[in-house]
Amino acid sequence: MIKIVLIGIQGSGKSTQGNLLSEKLGIPYLSSGHILRNMAKEKTRWGRYVKETLNAGILISDGKMTPIMEEYLKKPEYENGWILDGYPRTLKQGKDFKEKIDLVIYIKVSDEKALGRLNLRSEHREDDTTEAIKKRIESFHTLTEPIIDYYRKKGILIEIDGERTIEEIHKNILERLNNG
Ligand code: AMP
Repeated sequence: MIKIVLIGIQGSGKSTQGNLLSEKLGIPYLSSGHILRNMAKEKTRWGRYVKETLNAGILISDGKMTPIMEEYLKKPEYENGWILDGYPRTLKQGKDFKEKIDLVIYIKVSDEKALGRLNLRSEHREDDTTEAIKKRIESFHTLTEPIIDYYRKKGILIEIDGERTIEEIHKNILERLNNG
């Protein structure tokens, strides 16, 4: 049983790597962004708040986020481990989250590289405006970088060079997992 968290800016390829790893290890992959994009379709006050927040490229409040994720992880399919993508994403979320994380994989990519990849994507999500993407990159530096440091100090962080091919990155992640 292993509990893994993936961290990286939008365009780092973390969802691709999360899905590959999920298949390889046989444990489920769960993306907070995916959960929220489904919630954004709800015709309720909450649904509208989520939609507006996502479209603006800013973060859902920490106080709302942790209960959502903890509720999801209670489902039986997550009993034997999981790979989380996109949560925890702030220091507050990291400290509030009660689950014991075994490993945090930080996929490192420069802002320029990430922006280039996002521009090349053929399928654009509704919330993927240039303005929103810029905001997300900005919030990654101000709000997510502190949590990377927090996990580094705990000794559970591995850093992966994300500026390579999908296959090379996947292989590198597996090597690091096997070598502790
Ligand atoms: P992602 O698919 O991870 O890029 O997430 C898309 C959007 O969902 C983000 O820009 C945020 O608005 C929101 N979101 C996803 N995960 C979180 C989180 N852990 N905390 C707050 N907002 C989040």
